[in-house]
Amino acid sequence: MQVPFHGRSVRAWVLGATDDVPPGVLAVRTLVSPTRWFDDRGLALCRWVSERYVAPLAAVLRRASPPRVAGEEDPALLAERRAVTPPPAIAGVLANHRDGQGLLQAIEQTRSGGWVLRPVPEHEAAAVVDAVGACVSSGRRALVIVPESTPVPGTALAIAEAFGDRASLLLGGSKRARYRTWLDVQAGRYDVVVGTRPSVFAPVPGLGLIVVARESHAALREDRAPYYHARDVALARGAIEGAVVVLSALAPSSEAAALSLPTVSPQRRSWVPVEVVAPGPEGRAPRLVKTLASSSRAFVFSPLPGYGIAAVCRACGQPAACASCGGALRSSEGAVRCVVCEAPGRCRSCGASDFGLRRGGQERVEEWAARAARVPVRRLGPGDTPRLPDEGEVLVGGPDDVRELGAGGLDLVAILDADLAARRPGLTARERAFATWTEAVAWARPGGRAIVQTSHANDPAVQSLVQGDPARFHRDERQRRAQAGFPVGSAVFRVAGGPGLEAALTALGPITLLASSHEGQTICLLALDPGDVPAFGRAARELARRDVVNRVEAEPHL
Ligand SMILES: [Zn+2]
Ligand SMILES: [Zn+2]
Repeated sequence: MQVPFHGRSVRAWVLGATDDVPPGVLAVRTLVSPTRWFDDRGLALCRWVSERYVAPLAAVLRRASPPRVAGEEDPALLAERRAVTPPPAIAGVLANHRDGQGLLQAIEQTRSGGWVLRPVPEHEAAAVVDAVGACVSSGRRALVIVPESTPVPGTALAIAEAFGDRASLLLGGSKRARYRTWLDVQAGRYDVVVGTRPSVFAPVPGLGLIVVARESHAALREDRAPYYHARDVALARGAIEGAVVVLSALAPSSEAAALSLPTVSPQRRSWVPVEVVAPGPEGRAPRLVKTLASSSRAFVFSPLPGYGIAAVCRACGQPAACASCGGALRSSEGAVRCVVCEAPGRCRSCGASDFGLRRGGQERVEEWAARAARVPVRRLGPGDTPRLPDEGEVLVGGPDDVRELGAGGLDLVAILDADLAARRPGLTARERAFATWTEAVAWARPGGRAIVQTSHANDPAVQSLVQGDPARFHRDERQRRAQAGFPVGSAVFRVAGGPGLEAALTALGPITLLASSHEGQTICLLALDPGDVPAFGRAARELARRDVVNRVEAEPHL
């Protein structure tokens, strides 16, 4: 509806009735939509998001609702519920997992609570189909959150195939189509809804199960205000609606591991042998070169784009740096550009544009791999849709190419430049790298092999990759993050403001407070006990009124 507020007409929501009417309240100007956007539980969830991430409730409600297309609100347009697809037979994959029966019983009896599912790649999608099947046959509905929509993840494809017209995929489409689907979902036309991050708010009635697939994926965190993490919102929603929440991942996040939830995993886990070798020049370890020659289907993971980094100016002999900004210069697709400002590469000292390169990166790997392999070698470029290599093909790809594409069946998966993960800035860079390596290595077929190139064979992430078990990595991460002052499970905020910000936040007794000031602007990074967030939120709102705080960002990528 539209209401008058401070002399303007603004959009507003009806949250409920009250007898406590403050003086000066004006009448509603226009009713915009007859559609009910959220029920009491939906509102409770939005209030939780507003409090946990210190965001205005109105902003959360706006984010939780799809863009409205008025023409779709005619009740006559609601999709006919046909459900000609019979519910799928339970494949029994989950039942054969350790604790799988316990999870199925919890779903059938809708005993709310969280579970971690750590499947093997060939059962990743089937285990979710089983869980959803158990939910639907007990008469409730299920919601499955996937991190990405293109290409459609294997779990989403498997749900669509198993549940046919009982399933709705909220993966892109026009504004009109999305709103249409949202209304049909709200009307209970679908037994299972699959969607990306915003779908965690989808108005599924009678919700019995929420699955968060690949819960360690970075895309599950909302990057714009109001910030939220779909994993945590799913857990909160499960508690509010009495639904079971399953966090599924080949490499569970430290956050999921720290929740001490019951873990469902295969009775016997086969994991491909992972050989650890020292990196050769430009990634050409002799062992890898030899193995490539005997592989007919392989994926070579290189975290670096381009052909190489400019090391030295050939004209003046000075170390290469961008003339505009001093950044590093990268050679890619035959041209040298600054990695920071993207200006064409010119020497900072003399303006020349001829550089000696330190080779390495996906383009260079493609070049030498083509000489080593007996089958064609191709590289996934920035615009290419990620895919698995075909039979008789070696693919070179980077972090963005490792997606949920199915079991893989590859002869060889090679991880190059593993040491780079430790040097990347950011507290969670290592965890992202570990998840990516695990997901890529999982593409190797039983009897295939994986090779990881590192100078640090004892690194906990490398060891966990070799063992196919994240336990050691999680132990190390917990310690490392606690030492850095941002313990796993703490609530982290980046707060910007004026003078007095640091003192005001220190008074709240955070676990950690890091402050930096620049030109009168102070940026604070603070870690809080999750129980202290409501008090922090109240303080932040009060400080905002006094102009001490001007921005609060929840759960920044550290
Ligand atoms: Zn530059
Ligand atoms: Zn120069």
